[in-house]
Amino acid sequence: MLGGTAEARELASRLAAEGVEVTTSLAGRTHHPRLPDGDVRTGGFGGVDGLAAALDDVDVLVDATHPFAARMTEHAAGAAARTGTPWVVLRRPGWTAGPGDRWTRVPSLEDAAASIAPGARVLLATGRQGVGAFVDVDAWFLVRAIETPDVLPERAELLLARGPFALEDERALLDGHRITVVVAKDSGGATEAKLVAARERSIPVILVDRPALPAGVDVVASVDDIVDRIVPDGVSRG
Ligand code: NAP
Repeated sequence: MLGGTAEARELASRLAAEGVEVTTSLAGRTHHPRLPDGDVRTGGFGGVDGLAAALDDVDVLVDATHPFAARMTEHAAGAAARTGTPWVVLRRPGWTAGPGDRWTRVPSLEDAAASIAPGARVLLATGRQGVGAFVDVDAWFLVRAIETPDVLPERAELLLARGPFALEDERALLDGHRITVVVAKDSGGATEAKLVAARERSIPVILVDRPALPAGVDVVASVDDIVDRIVPDGVSRG
């Protein structure tokens, strides 16, 4: 399993409990990751060739990476095709705007940066790796990330924190820092409290759309569905 998400950890526990041998692969970006049950290996494979070699002893490949880990998913598609390994993508659904939401969807971090009005006070919740796109924007940023980004905008405060976050804490954050716009990725899942707090305050949200999945990919939306597929009559048991 290609991991790095809460669903990947949940799936590893569920499969291990069913007696399925699971190895989770982590990219190694965070220094103290929450570790899943089962075996864990860490670090890149060295592209499609490396991943294909690692699939030698694998019955089924589950890509449970983050919706924005597009490169890893592309490599998974390539390695699965080359080796004939059955593979499936576990991808939680994205968010849908509801009444009161003031969302602007954009296709990239660069477009999100270009959409910020001068003088804005921004909650930037796009993750450590995405901060570089915002360094030249004329605004004040509260940059929230799990670990320190390599770069920060000139006018920024860094908040090191790992979600999911409670709604009351998100309300206090937006109010306490007089945030006027929230920038986030359409990650889906349990990190939506910031969007709810923004809706309550009528604060606009710039939401970065997910990258497209490779053509023809088999996508499953929930951990339950993957467990049903793999245990007891799924691909892993032939
Ligand atoms: P990425 O851009 O798609 O991947 C870049 C490279 O990192 C891949 O080509 C691969 O290196 C290595 N890699 C990525 N995921 C890996 C994994 N699970 N196991 C082994 N190697 C992996 O991915 P990313 O956006 O940097 O994300 C890295 C990890 O963080 C992912 O596992 C993802 O689930 C997690 N994550 C990402 C985000 C996000 O917003 N992007 C948010 C939360 C968590 P090689 O080519 O050498 O194999």
